[in-house]
Amino acid sequence: MTGRIAEAAADAGRDAGEITTIVVTKFHPAALVSRLADLGVRDIGENRHQEAQAKAAELAALDLRWHFIGQLQSKKARQVRAYASAIHSVDRGALVDALRSDEASVDCFVQVNLTDDPGRGGVLPEGVPALVEHVLETPGLRLRGLMAVAPLGEPARPAFARVRELSEHVRRLEPTAHDLSMGMSHDFRDAIMEGATHLRIGTAITGNRPDAG
Ligand SMILES: *Cc1c(COP(=O)(O)O)cnc(C)c1O
Repeated sequence: MTGRIAEAAADAGRDAGEITTIVVTKFHPAALVSRLADLGVRDIGENRHQEAQAKAAELAALDLRWHFIGQLQSKKARQVRAYASAIHSVDRGALVDALRSDEASVDCFVQVNLTDDPGRGGVLPEGVPALVEHVLETPGLRLRGLMAVAPLGEPARPAFARVRELSEHVRRLEPTAHDLSMGMSHDFRDAIMEGATHLRIGTAITGNRPDAG
């Protein structure tokens, strides 16, 4: 996988060192995460709070960064803050308010919904500037940039290009918020071409998930 990412980065004229690969381990046991850590993986992605919390607790002795990438209920927000290094699924004002804290900042990404289906998670593109401003004025959050999942049934690259364009508006509001969390097992190459800085890769690294995921 590292080789394929390096190759895509080279084709995009980018430095592979600026791309973080998050290995998504949802539905897999903590033992698999532990083996990944032995292989040098440090960034782990999970999409369900209870599962993530349990694994983070069990593997607390390991030096891992937990990335929360799933839809997040506001009432679970504080608990996720407690173990997550980054939250990639900030998609509404109520969640931003629930994440407010006077403690150390947690990294976060505003998730953009690239589909017409409001149930998919993410704020619609037109709502991005207002949500970004809300994050920027909320203590305890450090905005890293935008996150997106490519819509099913259409080519990923133009969808990722839309995220890159939206990111230019975000950078006007906060120049340091230039990261892009996009690209999964099947579309990471397109994501790298459009500037992804954080790939979220599951099955291409872990093999099939034990459950439908
Ligand atoms: C599961 C998941 C991934 C990883 O998907 P793969 O196709 O297994 O690489 C990435 N992002 C999110 C939000 C996910 O839920």
